Amino acid sequence: MNAVDLTRELIRLDTVAGGEQRAAELVAGPLAEAGYTIELYPAAPGRAGLVARRGSGERFITLSGHLDTVPLGGSRWRHDPHAGELDGDLLYGRGASDMKAGVSALVTAAERCPADTPVQVVLTWGEETGCEGAADLAARGALAPAAVLLIAEPTANRAVPGHKGALWLRATTYGVAAHGSMPQLGDNAIYKLARAVTAAEGFQFGTEPHPWMGAPTLNVGTIAGGAGINAVPDRAEATIDVRTVAGQDHASIRADLAGSLQVELEVLLDLPPVWTPPEDPWVARLVAAGEPARAATFFTDASVLRPALDDPPTVICGPGQPDQAHVTDEYCRVSLIEDAVQLYLSVLDAGGRGGLHRAHEEIRRLR
Ligand SMILES: [Zn+2]
Repeated sequence: MNAVDLTRELIRLDTVAGGEQRAAELVAGPLAEAGYTIELYPAAPGRAGLVARRGSGERFITLSGHLDTVPLGGSRWRHDPHAGELDGDLLYGRGASDMKAGVSALVTAAERCPADTPVQVVLTWGEETGCEGAADLAARGALAPAAVLLIAEPTANRAVPGHKGALWLRATTYGVAAHGSMPQLGDNAIYKLARAVTAAEGFQFGTEPHPWMGAPTLNVGTIAGGAGINAVPDRAEATIDVRTVAGQDHASIRADLAGSLQVELEVLLDLPPVWTPPEDPWVARLVAAGEPARAATFFTDASVLRPALDDPPTVICGPGQPDQAHVTDEYCRVSLIEDAVQLYLSVLDAGGRGGLHRAHEEIRRLR
């Protein structure tokens, strides 16, 4: 099966936060035929990750993607989200760009690359809900050390040498309940939370903007509290989404923020930023060939996988359209899927024989 047909087959499988095992089994077939040793890691009914390896070496070129997608959303789709409809260069479906095109391209490249290249394919479940599948593979010791980690998230085949980190926090304030007609007998938790939220808006990170990632950001996403109009609330909470840049330490940000806001902060998600200097040979061979790219603002499984792979240089590069992730009538470009297979093959080919220069030339030609 070619990469485009494989993308269509994957789109036909509904993997909205569940059902990833069927997708893993679909790609396990061709990988096994190509000589890969496959390990499936079931984690919940219908949900499994996959790790496939071929070749030998101390470190494996590691290609990774997630099999789950986000839900369809509330708007009506003009194209069937699970049919794999083709219209010229556009292939429609939930997950087309994010990231079934990327998974298909990396699996196809892994099948076709020289058999002596040490390759590791890592496919995860539950990425969209917080990289749970990647964390599961890391915890089970399923991963071999990597020479380089390539994440095929949608970048329209531009090589992106990192992404911001995400630190999601819950701020909770407490007070004393009382009847709404006698507020002087209570202690209003909402007033405390309101002060904390205002402080959050003005919070300064005290960090210089990163040359690729820009400045860290903070957003208060939700706020809740109170049991009724006629009661003094004794509890209120808000959730805060902090996006960090390379060089920032999440533990100290949390401590600083708790100090400024004067509240308790509970960690809901903690994914560190991912960054590899563009001078790194693995990154350079992809970055030099492409247009200048900014670091991605979205997070990826790389935050979780990288430490478990012994900290390899990491590049995000995939055929999906970055502006199509999570949208209604999501599509990807068929031509970019085929280009991505060639890009990955040039990296894999070079990995087997040390042909760095040849890979560079090949990528340049493709542009
Ligand atoms: Zn994704």
